[in-house]
Amino acid sequence: MSKTLFEKICDREIPAEIVYEDELCVAFKDINPQAPFHVQLVPRKPITMLMNADAGDQALLGHLLLTAPRIAAAGGYADAFRLAVNNGAAVGQSVFHLHIHILAGRPFKWPPG
Ligand code: IMP
Repeated sequence: MSKTLFEKICDREIPAEIVYEDELCVAFKDINPQAPFHVQLVPRKPITMLMNADAGDQALLGHLLLTAPRIAAAGGYADAFRLAVNNGAAVGQSVFHLHIHILAGRPFKWPPG
């Protein structure tokens, strides 16, 4: 099976500005940032979307949620950041490799559009 775009970034086959990585995940700056700080946090494992994660991914998902705040803090945004996960094309998912948007550095509206 061919690699996803984000797998290729994780494997450094496509350039990206990587801000964090460990054995389970990689974080890199979004190519089309929607805020002054906009990072994608992705598992190395190519789960297509959150709906397709399973019980075996519990520790991985926990790791991602615990890692995201540390990445925001390292960027200077410990106090105010937003995490977003798009699940499905109808809500805006365009890359079918699970990713957490970490956004910060401007005011955000609620509810999101
Ligand atoms: P989605 O719409 O939730 O699937 O988010 C995909 C995100 O990936 C978007 O914010 C894109 O700007 C971002 N993106 C797409 N291609 C690249 C890339 O090559 N490098 C970094 N970010 C990318």
